[in-house]
Amino acid sequence: MANECLFCKIAAGEIPAKIVFKDDQVLAFEDSNPQAPFHVLIIPRQHLSTLNDLKTEDRALAGHLIFCAAQIAQVNGHAQDGYRTVFNCNHGAGQSVFHIHLHLLAGRSMTWPPG
Ligand code: 5GP
Ligand code: ZN
Repeated sequence: MANECLFCKIAAGEIPAKIVFKDDQVLAFEDSNPQAPFHVLIIPRQHLSTLNDLKTEDRALAGHLIFCAAQIAQVNGHAQDGYRTVFNCNHGAGQSVFHIHLHLLAGRSMTWPPG
């Protein structure tokens, strides 16, 4: 756990969040400022600041985040209509919390390109 990392604190249960899924590797919880009717963040329990910090040994974990997003979308009834998954990496992409998180957005039509 990284000191003063918001998402490490959520993973540790020190800050409350509306959890939608958890296992030994990842945690998924509702975004507190949702950008769609359904907006969940999937995070690794392990602290990694950005995608740039992924190491060879993290490949399975990165894949698991995506697999969990698909499962959560399915379970919550969004697979058929569709959903968007987003990793923002660093300031230029709008990353504001520096603990890797996969956004899962659903429940409305999405536009492209993103802003
Ligand atoms: P980023 O901008 O880094 O890609 O996404 C960070 C996300 O974390 C934002 O969508 C923001 O609303 C969400 N967020 C920030 N602080 C909290 C919090 O304390 N609790 C929850 N559940 N989400 C948060
Ligand atoms: Zn962290």
